[in-house]
Amino acid sequence: MLFQIPVEVQEILNCLEQAGYEAYLVGGCIRDCLIGKVPQDWDITTSAQPEQVISSFPHTIVLPTGLRHGTVSVRQGGMTCEVTSYRTEFGVADGRHPRVVQFGCSLEEDLKRRDFTVNAMAYHPQKGLIDLFGGQKDLEKRLIRCVGDPDLRFQEDALRILRAMRFASVYGFSIQRETACAIHRNYALLGRISVERVLEEFRRFLIGKNPSQLLREFSDVTGFLFPELEPSFGFEQKNPHHSLDIWEHTLKALEDTPPDYIVRMAVLLHDSGKPNCFTEDQAGIGHFYGHNKCGSELAESCLKRLRCDKESMAQIILLVRWHDAPLETQRQLLRMLNRLGEPLLRKLLLVKRADLRAHAPADIPLGEERLRRSEQLLNLILTQHVCFSLRDLAINGEDLLQLGFSQGPLLGSCLKGLLGEVLEGRLENQKEVLLAWAIQFLQKAGG
Ligand code: ATP
Ligand code: MG
Repeated sequence: MLFQIPVEVQEILNCLEQAGYEAYLVGGCIRDCLIGKVPQDWDITTSAQPEQVISSFPHTIVLPTGLRHGTVSVRQGGMTCEVTSYRTEFGVADGRHPRVVQFGCSLEEDLKRRDFTVNAMAYHPQKGLIDLFGGQKDLEKRLIRCVGDPDLRFQEDALRILRAMRFASVYGFSIQRETACAIHRNYALLGRISVERVLEEFRRFLIGKNPSQLLREFSDVTGFLFPELEPSFGFEQKNPHHSLDIWEHTLKALEDTPPDYIVRMAVLLHDSGKPNCFTEDQAGIGHFYGHNKCGSELAESCLKRLRCDKESMAQIILLVRWHDAPLETQRQLLRMLNRLGEPLLRKLLLVKRADLRAHAPADIPLGEERLRRSEQLLNLILTQHVCFSLRDLAINGEDLLQLGFSQGPLLGSCLKGLLGEVLEGRLENQKEVLLAWAIQFLQKAGG
């Protein structure tokens, strides 16, 4: 049975029909049922106007969550369904096209305004599937295709360009030819969409099944969203460790990542600093000294422009900054643990592994072995509770106050100095040893 409609949802449909209106399940839930996925939510479209929806449920909680778009949320049992009146407008306002959302058209009219054929089907438990634009066939062919003229549809709402890429990535579908061509013609319209919406859509795209392939096919869109990456396209590395140009290397690395936004974004940007840092030695070999730092600066300006949230931005920048750092010795791992903390260091290892696997094949076995050892050593360090942060030091600020330090920057820099010495292996993390060093520190500072 393809459509296992929860009784609560069924109840809402019944209620609307008993009040004399048409009501259908619509959009993403139909798409998901047809491909055998359990829908996350069940959306209903109805001939009733929003006020009529509200009065159809006298005994149920109804919240006017999106009245402007004709949407109310109906609470039934433990479930909430979005019930939307048939409408002739979809998508986001872009500031140039003031929206007048009209309600009360027909089901056909409503479906015609939806973005893609696979999202434009409706279902009714008795009347069956309403598929006016070949959505079911496109699902079978695994295709994302605009409803109607794709140029017009992208001109109405450019966010649909990224939605097309997102659905293709999430479901591992292709984008149908005319729709793809229209993306190539219209991507610059994305400039009208707020960067927050663009980045959110891109985030969902990036954690899909095959973002790499789509980033390659739509490298024009990629370059528009990330001008920082454009110089990498086709940039030959002239280096025996690399058989691919920078962009192809990046895309290949991306294929070897788990669907984690931070890791994938870091991999996407990890080598963005390379073109700027390229030098060629006398033997004609290419080098990229300093590309990590340069890349992390580019990543920062790019993520700021896209108004990335601060937390994600900080993590992505750190991963780009340190993607090339060696992590072979205890000392190197402790330093990195101190900089990143354990969870982000684990992500750094994922970035490094993906990066490695996109190197020249001859480099891979040794690199894999090194990474495996780093991981083992890291696990050992963590089980042995080796000191890598101020918290782990055998003394704390209180102890320094008793030695005669006063509250302030000197105390802070003494603790930092102590941690540095311990991380470098010059001091044992033992109370007496650390206190002795602190006393000297205080004397040198003239305290
Ligand atoms: P998911 O919730 O898994 O992202 P969805 O298909 O439910 O997928 P929503 O953004 O929740 O996506 O939109 C619900 C439905 O509304 C879509 O299936 C589509 O029919 C329609 N829709 C949403 N956004 C647009 C848009 N920008 N242009 C046209 N139709 C849209
Ligand atoms: Mg949805």
